[in-house]
Amino acid sequence: MLDILNKICRGDGTMEDLDTLESLGNMVKDTSLCGLGQTAPNPVLSTLKHFREEYIAHVVDKVCPAGVCPNLTNFIITDKCIGCTKCVKNCPVGAITGKVKQKHTIDLEKCIRCGACKKACPVNAISSKPEDWKAIVNG
Ligand code: SF4
Ligand code: SF4
Repeated sequence: MLDILNKICRGDGTMEDLDTLESLGNMVKDTSLCGLGQTAPNPVLSTLKHFREEYIAHVVDKVCPAGVCPNLTNFIITDKCIGCTKCVKNCPVGAITGKVKQKHTIDLEKCIRCGACKKACPVNAISSKPEDWKAIVNG
């Protein structure tokens, strides 16, 4: 289970991994002989139940809404982006695309998490905060 969680945190997770985590967690819970074993998978099972959108953000959108996983931080809040292109000009690896006055996007496969775009953005449209991510997901 730890290997799967690390894989998800690296940005290599898949939706199938979520199903595997859930079935492994339930198996450990149902087949352990002592109380410790029966409760060990609870953190994973309860976060899968109550914070599933955060797992999906990691495996589908490849972002970490909590800004904790180093491989998966920083996303653009499209509602705030005014298309000034400052982030594009400041990104050292060409990870951001977008034209003047258009919404910009970050290619997380190219991004090296240097934070230069965040500093350059005049309207704070680049974030790694969970509440910002939830607002995007929930529209
Ligand atoms: S964090 Fe750095 S590498 Fe990533 S998109 Fe922003 S400027 Fe580019
Ligand atoms: S710097 Fe901010 S407002 Fe300007 S294009 Fe980038 S994300 Fe949009």
